[in-house]
Amino acid sequence: MSKYYPVIGLEIHCQLATRTKMFCSCEVEVNTTPNKHVCPVCLGMPGAMPVPNKKAVEYAIRLGLALNCEIDLNAMWTRKNYFYPDLPKGYQITQTGGLPVYDHPICKNGWLEVTLDDGSVKRVGITRIHMEEDAGKLVHDLSPEGSHFDANRCGTPLCEIVTEPDIRSPQEAVLVLQKIKQILEYTEVSNANMENGNMRCDGNISLRESEDAPFGTRAEIKNLNSFTNLEKALEAEILLQTLTLDANKEVEQCTKRFDVNNNKTIVIRSKEDAHDYKYFPEPDMVRLVTDPKFVESIKNSLPELPDARRERFVNDYQITAYDAQVLTMERDVSVWFDTAAKQCKNPKILANWVISELLREVKDLENGLSDVKIMPEHLAALVNLIEDNTISGKIAKQVFADMFATGKAPDVIVKEKGLVQITDISAIESIVSEVVQANQGQFDEFKAGKVALKGFFVGQVMKKSGGKANPGLVNQILDKMAAQ
Ligand code: ADP
Ligand code: MG
Ligand code: ZN
Repeated sequence: MSKYYPVIGLEIHCQLATRTKMFCSCEVEVNTTPNKHVCPVCLGMPGAMPVPNKKAVEYAIRLGLALNCEIDLNAMWTRKNYFYPDLPKGYQITQTGGLPVYDHPICKNGWLEVTLDDGSVKRVGITRIHMEEDAGKLVHDLSPEGSHFDANRCGTPLCEIVTEPDIRSPQEAVLVLQKIKQILEYTEVSNANMENGNMRCDGNISLRESEDAPFGTRAEIKNLNSFTNLEKALEAEILLQTLTLDANKEVEQCTKRFDVNNNKTIVIRSKEDAHDYKYFPEPDMVRLVTDPKFVESIKNSLPELPDARRERFVNDYQITAYDAQVLTMERDVSVWFDTAAKQCKNPKILANWVISELLREVKDLENGLSDVKIMPEHLAALVNLIEDNTISGKIAKQVFADMFATGKAPDVIVKEKGLVQITDISAIESIVSEVVQANQGQFDEFKAGKVALKGFFVGQVMKKSGGKANPGLVNQILDKMAAQ
């Protein structure tokens, strides 16, 4: 553990889930034939005029409201100039610009809350959320002609969420990023898939000597594409800055990347200043004037957010806070569970099945939950079959495996395979008698008081009945026979 106190702030880019690009009507489809979706606007041809995508603005506002931000009804577009071969325009239209006069992002001054390990709730400020457009993509595939350029991503809409430097450990940073991903999913503003790059995170971190000392100089680690990498990169940077400070050297402000293989942060460049980008108000666009009624209508149609859903699960379904946390972590899982729980006699048991059986299987599926054949109603029905003693919990596991493989309803499987639990007392009595006869010696010992043998007899009866005998009844009958 470092003797210094980390200060962390995150910048998160996410691709908005609009059908078309930020300033033109080209379709957003990145993984397709290169340069399929292009036009004079997103290629930056002189004279082509950008027009903001209303849906993208709506999404940015929805995200801002979900993150408790103020919405700027008079936001501004700025031009950020730089050269890079993936940027044919030579500039990006954004909503930042270093100088306060240019600083009118669509959302600002918000917050989110995360629950820390000790159960306390921590609030982290959201400085701003601004909209911007993405650059294209260079493909370095070692072909003899050299590198290729694909403009499908040019002009796709992004939101950048910037947090206050309120985060105090790499673990907290992970919780914050998880919460933001969750909110992006719940609001359906972005697919927020970190693996395919439509959500990525930059981590800013500095160290100081005490919890109330002024902030130290920060390093910014770019493009962290998983929770693990965010945590590891911050840990690695803490180590590095600790060594620097211990040697009485100064940390230099810089931009870094994380080398996953060597678990090290590596300097890409010393920090650029705002004036390097020669920001100015975007001359091709007027200010983004938003009707308060538009904001109001978005506010009124905000979906249930993760914290609210978690609390509702605890209250309505009487499940533990921990289970509710697991079940609301991903939106599709929460919707799946909610649908099932509404039709289940025992949502608590259902929660166990979803967490320990279903989610365990889901981990191995390529497309996660969307590959699951079991319908939520069917898992609810399976739990109902256990609840009304039609099948035992053990048989239910077998039925579950079948449901998972075939997508069939549980009652169909139970009928097809003759798995209905035996609750007929005389039927169980005759199985018990057979088992007793075959093991008379042990039964006498059991009768004489060797209680430990009961488990053996229950096991034999269950085996003989193909797992179908009701275990409670088996126990009762054995006790009765032993007492005779
Ligand atoms: P830039 O564009 O230069 O990266 P931003 O204002 O967009 O600047 O982002 C700065 C990020 O760095 C924010 O997330 C902020 O919370 C964080 N930050 C600012 N100062 C510090 C500091 N001293 N230590 C750690 N993080 C910091
Ligand atoms: Mg930055
Ligand atoms: Zn276009």
